[in-house]
Amino acid sequence: MSEEKTKRTDVNSLGEFGLIDHLTRMAVPNNPSTIKGVGDDAAVIDNGDKVTVVSTDLLVEGIHFDMMYTPLKHLGYKAIVVNLSDIYAMNAVPKQITVSIAISNRFSVEALEELYEGIYTACKQYKVDLVGGDTTSSLKGLFISVTAIGEGEKEKITYRNTAKIGDLICITGNLGAAYLGLQLLEREKQIYLENPNIQPDLEDQQYLMERQLKPEARKDMIEMFAKNQLVPTSMIDISDGLSSEIYHICKQSGVGAVIEESGVPIHPDAQMMALQFQLDPVTCALSGGEDYELLFTIDPNDVEKVKYLPDIYIAGEIVDKKEGVKLHTKGGNIHDLPAQGWVHFDPNK
Ligand code: ADP
Ligand code: MG
Repeated sequence: MSEEKTKRTDVNSLGEFGLIDHLTRMAVPNNPSTIKGVGDDAAVIDNGDKVTVVSTDLLVEGIHFDMMYTPLKHLGYKAIVVNLSDIYAMNAVPKQITVSIAISNRFSVEALEELYEGIYTACKQYKVDLVGGDTTSSLKGLFISVTAIGEGEKEKITYRNTAKIGDLICITGNLGAAYLGLQLLEREKQIYLENPNIQPDLEDQQYLMERQLKPEARKDMIEMFAKNQLVPTSMIDISDGLSSEIYHICKQSGVGAVIEESGVPIHPDAQMMALQFQLDPVTCALSGGEDYELLFTIDPNDVEKVKYLPDIYIAGEIVDKKEGVKLHTKGGNIHDLPAQGWVHFDPNK
C-alpha cells in the first residue's frame, strides 16, 4: 500500500467548514445552468424566467435532537422549518420538500405518524408541498434528511459573497433564545435522570422552549422585502450563531465587519435565563445557535426601507477586510469576534 493510502487524518482537525471546503474543492460545475454550487444557504439553478434554489439538511438523533425532550411532532415541524430558512435566506420562496428517514425498530407507526403530523403542519403553515423522499432502516436512532426546493428571481437572489464596504448589517427577531431553551431542557433532563420523581419545571419558560423545539423561519421578512422593494446586498440565515454567520459573509465577500453589541437583539426571557445560568447574554446571542433568524446587509441608501419595519435591527456596518470582524461593546471596547459556531464532531458521540 502506498503511503498516501495509509495516511489517516482526523476529521476534527479540519473542523466542519474546513472539511466541507476540503471535500467540495473539486465540485466545479459542468452545467451552465448551475449558477451557484456549494457555499451558500442553497444552490441556485437557472430555470429560464426564474431560478430554482435547493437546500438540504440532515438531522441525526443524539447530535441534533434528543428524543428525551423532543416531541416527534415538533421534530417533524422543525426539520422542515430549518430547511425553509435556508431558502428564505436566498430571498426565494420555498415550494416543495422531500423527506427521507432512516428508522430503527424502536419507532412505531404511531410515532412516525406523529413526526409526519409535524411535517404536514409545517407544509400548511409555509405553503410547501411534500413531493417525495426515501425510507430506510437504521441500526440505531432516527435520521431525517429534508431537501427544500424554492423559486426566486435571478436579480433578487441574495448571496453570502456580495456584501460591500459601507453596507449596514441587519438582524431580524432576536438571538440566543433557542440556545438558552436547549440549556434549560438539558438541565431538566439531568435533574430527571437523577430523580425521575421530580417533574420538569418549564411552565414559565414557554418562549425559550418554543424557540428551541418549534422554531419558525422568516417567511414574513422575505414578503416584507418584496413589498418594500428591498433587495439586501447579502443574506444568510442564523443557524450557527451570529459570529459564525457574519464570518461567512465577510470571508466570502472579502470584507470586514463591526457589530455593535448594543444592536444585537436579545429577548428579555433569554436575558434572564442567561443570567440564571451565569452566562453572558451577548455570548449566547453571538455563539448560541438555531435561532433561524436572518442576517443581511443593505446599501445605506436603502436604510429608509428597513428603518420602520418591525423586528429588524441595524447592528453594525461592513468595513474594509483589513479591519477584521469586530465587536464594539457597550463599554466602548473593540474585540475580535470568534468565528466558531456549533461543533458537530463530538469525539464522545
Ligand atoms: P447551512 O448551515 O446554511 O445549512 P452548511 O454550513 O451546512 O450550510 O453548508 C455550507 C455549504 O456546503 C452549502 O452550500 C452546502 O450545500 C455545502 N455542503 C455541506 N456539506 C456538503 C457535502 N458533504 N458535500 C457537498 N456539499 C456540502
Ligand atoms: Mg443557512
